[in-house]
Amino acid sequence: MGILVLNAGSSTVKFALFGFDTLEVLVRGLLDWAGKTGQATVRMEMPGQGPIRQDLEVPSYREAVFAALNLLQRSFGTSGVALTNRGTGAASAASEKAAEGNFGQKIRIVGHRLIHGGEEIRTPVWIDAQMKQTIARYRHLAPLHIPAGLEAIAAAEEALPGTPQIGVFDTAFFADIPPAAYLYPVPYEWYTQWGIRRYGFHGTSHAYCTERAAQLLDRPVEQVNLIICHLGQGSSATAVQAGKAITNTMGFTPLEGFMMGSRSGTVDPGILLYVMREHGLSVEELDHILHHRSGLLGLSGVSSDFRQVEAAAAQGNQRAQLALDVYAYRVRAMVGSLAVTLGRVDALVFTGGIGENSSWLRKEVCRGLECIGVHLDPEKNQHLRPDTDIAQAASPVRVLLIHTREDYMIARCARQMLLERTTPEIR
Ligand code: ADP
Repeated sequence: MGILVLNAGSSTVKFALFGFDTLEVLVRGLLDWAGKTGQATVRMEMPGQGPIRQDLEVPSYREAVFAALNLLQRSFGTSGVALTNRGTGAASAASEKAAEGNFGQKIRIVGHRLIHGGEEIRTPVWIDAQMKQTIARYRHLAPLHIPAGLEAIAAAEEALPGTPQIGVFDTAFFADIPPAAYLYPVPYEWYTQWGIRRYGFHGTSHAYCTERAAQLLDRPVEQVNLIICHLGQGSSATAVQAGKAITNTMGFTPLEGFMMGSRSGTVDPGILLYVMREHGLSVEELDHILHHRSGLLGLSGVSSDFRQVEAAAAQGNQRAQLALDVYAYRVRAMVGSLAVTLGRVDALVFTGGIGENSSWLRKEVCRGLECIGVHLDPEKNQHLRPDTDIAQAASPVRVLLIHTREDYMIARCARQMLLERTTPEIR
């Protein structure tokens, strides 16, 4: 018996199957739809087994998810033991659909990562027809992710009829941030009439890191003050006071805050007015540039991938180095600002692909943060792997490296909801 976790993005769906009792990962997979009409690729990996890869011919997002779930079914035998690698091949959605099996009996519950629950959805929820309508109301606030999440829900309903589904929302961890932190200084009616406020994102990752940091610090979660930097393709920081989020650097949308792979992060809004008025950029062009042609990619001209920009800088590419410097500067400045809002900081946490892996970035961020009590140990920073403490022994603020586990959080929440028929808070 297992728990299936689906994380539906605009062009990929990450999925993981967890043991119901053990919460161990049995299968992890990625469905990459890459916006190509009619084609998708599924990759799956089981601990201790070789990878499985299959190309699928699918007419829609929903069919792609449905086909991936059926491939999971066929690759994962009734005994709970992985079958052999089926190699690469093509399968039509219709033939996938025809491949009826016992998969539905093996999955007890499905948990979805959903990006936006507005002010209304403050906890994980059971998904039924009414809840789907509620979620759909936030479509315009996350136009790439909410429709994808609803398609994944529909595909799971079809592939696993009768299996209960729950949703865990990225915004929920920030449900209690104070108005001073979430209101923008624009006409108040923008908030009351249009819902324009800061929401915060990456909440499931920040919630996991809060719990894990408390464990590493050996303190009750209610007693920890943290600054958590989730630095991945998308990046944000959260200030956690007494175990609760008090602010997150992403705002009304996940475009605010840190510079990211291809997203600009915070820029002077006057720039947007200027380039529209003086250089004739349209709303659509601006939208595309700010999301897909800015950040590391826009500044370096090399890539949106941090590793590649680091490699280019190491070979002497000046613009790549400049992009890295701006990235580090912005993280450092934001950590300083969050430290002030907290008053006392117990630990600075690094997570996400960049936070967990780039010792250069961590060194650059911590350089200058000695004034708030952060003293990084250069040796530990260079050599230790997550989850661990890389601060100097005498550092008043600990520096923690944590491997984030959003899908585990969702699986654990789904299990708890099913066993207790409750809706636990993810915080
Ligand atoms: P996502 O936000 O899509 O989950 P990740 O958290 O996996 O993304 O982070 C992806 C980013 O992490 C990419 O920019 C990648 O270059 C960076 N990254 C991964 N491994 C390393 C590494 N060893 N050194 C530096 N950056 C890395």
